[in-house]
Parts: sequence; structure tokens; C-alpha cells
Amino acid sequence: MTYLDANATEPLRPEARRAVLEALDLTGNPSSVHAAGRAARRLLEEARERLATRFGARAQDVIFTSGGTEANALALHALGAGRRLIVGATEHAAIRAAAPGATVLPVDAEGVADLDALRRLLAGGPPALVCLMLANNETGTIQPVAEAAALCRDAGARLHVDAVQGAGRIGADLAGLGADSLALSAHKLGGPPGAGALLVAPAHSAGLAPLIGGGGQERNRRGGTPALPAIAGFAAAATALDVAAMAALARLRDTAEHAAIAAGARPLGAGAARLPNTTCLALPGVRADTQVIALDLAGIQVSAGAACSSGKVERSHVLDAMGAGALAAEAIRVSLPWNATETDISAFVNAYQSMAARLCRNAA
Ligand code: PLP
Repeated sequence: MTYLDANATEPLRPEARRAVLEALDLTGNPSSVHAAGRAARRLLEEARERLATRFGARAQDVIFTSGGTEANALALHALGAGRRLIVGATEHAAIRAAAPGATVLPVDAEGVADLDALRRLLAGGPPALVCLMLANNETGTIQPVAEAAALCRDAGARLHVDAVQGAGRIGADLAGLGADSLALSAHKLGGPPGAGALLVAPAHSAGLAPLIGGGGQERNRRGGTPALPAIAGFAAAATALDVAAMAALARLRDTAEHAAIAAGARPLGAGAARLPNTTCLALPGVRADTQVIALDLAGIQVSAGAACSSGKVERSHVLDAMGAGALAAEAIRVSLPWNATETDISAFVNAYQSMAARLCRNAA
């Protein structure tokens, strides 16, 4: 089996696995005052420190959540209340669902947000919260987040960055980007599912309005007993990240992409700065789900542009926003995990070439 669907979930890093197992053996609720509780609290606060250091925040400004979806929802709830919402056209469903009726910020044919349009949208209107992702989950397109942050600052607007896909692959730094908040998810960077975090700028930290109330955890900003094993694994994965190693991943991705192009594929979003591990490949005339099934039968796991939780393939709003036309229904996402090898890429290339030869003949 060749797993090339890292943007859905990354394989667990060994450091994260060890940290999860150790934390599972620790009995104690971080809120308890006794020794077991204090040991759990120590582990929780160590994890908070490590994530803060890695992603450019103060420890007290890291709020643990159940994952990226909740971190995004918390950002919109806490930072967007009473504000006009402006969201990038290619944002993930986690943002779109939490921002109904938002104004859409258009993107160009490569999926890059139009900053002139943002400037116009910000001019004159009531205070806004802008949501712009660090990198797109379907195409890997990297957004000009630091530039958007500067525009927002000048206009008195706030910027929330969904860094779920970018954080493990190009790095992310809340303070360095100049954003107001940053959403992270453990399982997208080699940690376990079940943990995420919202990092907020110091100005928003104290008294941030919780989305989930409860027992006062996370300084009253997120109720519920923290999922300590998942959080420990999250911090271990984040510490083990090696963004420099991503250059090797980019070379493997490029090999796969060039071979697919030679077999008839059209890459989408490849003209923009992209995540090193992602390519979005359209095969004209062949439906995306047909390609996913054909590759799966050949032992290669990839996904269609937008697979929803039921496994059904829906038309991709990302590719539609880029004006991909018919190709939007004919694109698959190939996303290399942190541990991808040359053998994986050879297997993909062989399977893709024989699939394209077979299916393109049928489509013709
Ligand atoms: N944001 C982006 C860009 C994503 O790709 C995803 C998951 O695919 C999410 C948010 C949601 O993260 P989680 O699965 O941790 O809820």
C-alpha cells in the first residue's frame, strides 16, 4: 500500500506515538490539586510551552481544542463577534460553516487571494474579521498571509489564519505573520487525532469568549477536560517537525507531478508557491472518483479534490473558485506524507501511467 493522502491525515510520528503512550499511563486530571493531578498539569503545560515556542506565541495564549475544526470555530466565535466577516474563497469547510453569509474574498487562477480586492473590501466598511488560510488543503497553494495581516492592521481589521495544512510543512509563526489568531491540528502534522489549538495574539488572550463553557479549563476559554495523551502527542509531533526536510519531499512531489503531466495530467495551482508535499492533478475527461478508485485498486491511496466525510465526492469549491471549469470534477489530490520514499513515488508513477493510458483511451 502506498499512502499519498497526508493532507487528510499524516502518519503518526514515532515521537508522537511514544508521547501518547506515556501520557496514557499517567492517571490524573490536570485540574486536580493532588500529586497525580499536578503531574498531569505539568505535562499539559510543557506541551503548551513547546507548541508556543514552535508557532510564535506565548504559552498563555495557546488554547487547546479537539482539533482544527474547533479551533477555527472558536476563532470566529471569539474574534468575529459583532464584526463583518470576510473569508477567502478557498477556505476549508471548517471556516465556511462557521461564517455563514460572509463576504467572499476572490482568488486568482492559481488559488491565491486577491489582495487588491481585500484592500477594497476593507476600505470604509465596519470593522472586519478576515479569514485567510496559510495553505490550501486541495492544491497546496500558499496564501500571502503576512501581506494580508498588514492590510488588516492598517484598516483596523483582525486576521484569523487557518494554519492546519501549512503549519507542519512550511512552518507557521503567529507573531511573525502578524496575525490575530492561528488554528492548528495535531493529526495534520504527525500527531494523533483529537487535539488542536487556537493560538491568539496577546491582545485577545485574557477573557477570550469560550465556544464551549464548562469547568473553567484553559483559563475559562475552553471547557472540558483536556485530552492529555493527544495533546502530549501533538507537542511531540510539533517538536519533531523538520521543515528543512521538506525540500526532499518537494523533489519527490515534483518527480510524481512531472511523470503525471507526461501521462496527460494538468496540474492545478502549480503556478503559485505551494506546500512541498501537494499536487492537484486533473486528468481531462476522467472523473475524479474513477481515478481514485483505479489508483486504490493499484494500491495507491489519494483523494479526490473534495471528499466529504461520507466518502462521497462533491464538486470542489476550491477548484471552482480558481475557474478550473470541467477540470474541477476531474482532479485528484496527491499529498505526500512526511515519511514518503522514492519507492512510494515509483509505485505512484507506474500506477498513474497505466491508469491514464487505460482511462484516457476510454474517455477519447
Ligand atoms: N482546515 C483545513 C485547511 C483542513 O484541511 C482541515 C482538515 O482537513 C481542517 C481545517 C479541519 O481540521 P480537523 O480535521 O483537525 O478538524
